[in-house]
Amino acid sequence: MDQRTITIQYESHPDETTISSEDRRLLDVAREATSLAYAPYSRFRVGAAARLTDQRIVRGSNQENASYPAGICAERVLLATLSSIGTDAHITVMAISYVGEGLGNDKPLAPCGVCRQVMAEYEERTGAPFRLILAGLNGEVQIFQSASSLLPFRFSGSELPQ
Ligand SMILES: [Zn+2]
Repeated sequence: MDQRTITIQYESHPDETTISSEDRRLLDVAREATSLAYAPYSRFRVGAAARLTDQRIVRGSNQENASYPAGICAERVLLATLSSIGTDAHITVMAISYVGEGLGNDKPLAPCGVCRQVMAEYEERTGAPFRLILAGLNGEVQIFQSASSLLPFRFSGSELPQ
């Protein structure tokens, strides 16, 4: 029997002042994208923004529904938007922020498990990991070198019959 350990390395910045100005701009776009959320049920608005290899920026926000499972997270709205553009450019970095009514909004928000799975497969099919910037409206900023680092034991299409 082997005892194995997985470590995840990430940057933790006390606030946004120590991240690059380019990353700060992208985080600002993610924060602005929270205003595009449709979240009348949770009152928890999430915004995501991704910079592409051609420098364009794509946004997404969570879209809820009275039939709760029909709602979709900001991260997957962003990836679907990117698919609909029909471009060969791919994501180099994604920022995710949120505004929760009555919350401090000062802690990084981690993507849900479904979004981690979808982002990991996006990285796999493009062959290019992208950095992930997580932050609230203020306070700590976390930066991960890849989305798949948040889901080390993910299910992969390579497990399916070829
Ligand atoms: Zn999600």
